[in-house]
Order: sequence, then structure tokens, then C-alpha cells
Amino acid sequence: MPIILSQRVDTGSDYNDVPFVVYHFPKRYRRQINPGDLFLYYQGNRVKKEQRYYFGTGIIGRIELCEDGEHYNAWFLEAKQFTRRVPIYNPAGGYYESLDYTSIRKSETPPWQNSIRPVSESAFSAILAAAGLQRTDDRYGVIENAENPLQAIRLLNETYKECSPQKRDRMVSLHIERGTRITSSLKKLLGPFCQICGAEGFVKHNGDRYIEAHHLVQIALSASSSLCSDNVILVCPNCHRELHYGRDVEVADRGDEILISLGNVRERLIRKNTVEYLEDCLINNATVI
Ligand SMILES: [Zn+2]
Ligand SMILES: [Zn+2]
Repeated sequence: MPIILSQRVDTGSDYNDVPFVVYHFPKRYRRQINPGDLFLYYQGNRVKKEQRYYFGTGIIGRIELCEDGEHYNAWFLEAKQFTRRVPIYNPAGGYYESLDYTSIRKSETPPWQNSIRPVSESAFSAILAAAGLQRTDDRYGVIENAENPLQAIRLLNETYKECSPQKRDRMVSLHIERGTRITSSLKKLLGPFCQICGAEGFVKHNGDRYIEAHHLVQIALSASSSLCSDNVILVCPNCHRELHYGRDVEVADRGDEILISLGNVRERLIRKNTVEYLEDCLINNATVI
């Protein structure tokens, strides 16, 4: 369910917000906002309704409790400003936020005073359209294509780690359907090499190198963190098939490392693809990126 985040931009805000970076909110709203949520930025005005408008959109990332124990910070995975403000009135009549309101609340009139409030899917799409933007359901596509693959992995790991079980299931299906965003970022960082035998992937029709991803803990079995980069290794098709179907396969978890033996690859100690390890790779091999 998309949400509205109320943010004063015409006057200074009372909270420690950094617009388009982080949203600061009282803890009573915590249950209404979660990593992975799509949001619309809304500028309220207690008196003048004509001063109420939507001005941006994005995706919620990590949410952390502040030191005062009374507020949270929600960091954005991405956020962008509209090129034009969208007033609250739907040209077709009524308020945008009244579209399909029964799917989220009883009253037709939106609770304007609530800093965070749900918005129906149809209202969300209509407001984006009015801003001249297209609704894209592939919210992670943007991250995958991020210039910096390490940053993409960091963001994805955070999102995967913190998402609710229901949201995780949705992400798992996205992840499986569309190929993995983590995998493509790992491939950019580490190159198209098998992390077990070292073989380089063959060249595909489009000129890219082929490489597969193996999940150390099967996605279907485990927690949301099974989608994170430290649960994924890049493997050639041979090693991959053997991992799944081979007789002489041993895999042992050694904390930050993983010990793998296959029929003709003895005892390879492989570093897990944690963000820390990937950072080291970047430092040691500045040409990777
Ligand atoms: Zn291999
Ligand atoms: Zn596998």
C-alpha cells in the first residue's frame, strides 16, 4: 500500500528531516510505514487548502529508531521531486485522495492532519500521472541500474533484511521472476567468474558474459536475509549443477567464509559476499568498476 508523507517545504519543518533523503517521524506512526513502501510527498497547510499539494515520490528504505526513543528516521532508497506540483484537487472532481478511499479508510475526506497516511493505489497512480510520471511497479529496476553496484547492493540488503514476511514473499516472487538484482550487481563488482572454480562465464549473444547465482540458504526456506548478497555466490553452470545434484558436495558455513568441496574442486574457502568484503574488493581492484 503506498503512503503519503507530509513534509513542510514552504516553511521550515519542526523535525530533523532532510527532504529527499530522510523522513523523521514520531513513533506512533511506525506501523504505517515500512521498508519497500512507495510514497508521495505532501505539503500541508492547516488553513489554506489551495496551498496543499504533492511534490515528490520515492521508496522507503531503512527505518531506524532515534536516540530519543520517541522518533524514527526513514531513509529513502530513492526519492525524486516532481517537475510540477500536483494540487490536492482531482480535475475530475473531489480530492485525489478520495479515489477508491474505501480500500483504505471509512471517510471520503482524507485525514489531512496525519503526517503519514495510506493512499489507495488508484489515487497514487492518478497523482503520479498528474505529475507527468508513469507508475512503474519495477521499483528495484532503478536500483539495479544504479551507477554504483556496491551502493545498489547496500540498499537491496537493507531492504531485504528489514521487510515483513508478507512483503518478503512479494519480493521473492519479483526476485525470481525478473532475475536477481543482487546478482547483476555482484557480477558488475566481481566480474563474470565462478567463485568456486574460477572459470569465466561464456560470451552470450549480446556480448555479455554468462554467470549464474547460487543461494547458499535456499530462498524458499529461510528468512528475508536469504535474498541478501552474503547468501549469494556467483557460479559457473557446471559447479552450479554439481552443487544441486552432485554426490561429492560439501558445504560448510564458517561465519564470514564458506568452505566448499566438489568432486574435482577440493576445499575452497570462499569469502561471503558481504558489503565489507565487496568494499575490500573495490579497494584492491580499482579497475573492477
Ligand atoms: Zn565453477
Ligand atoms: Zn543454486
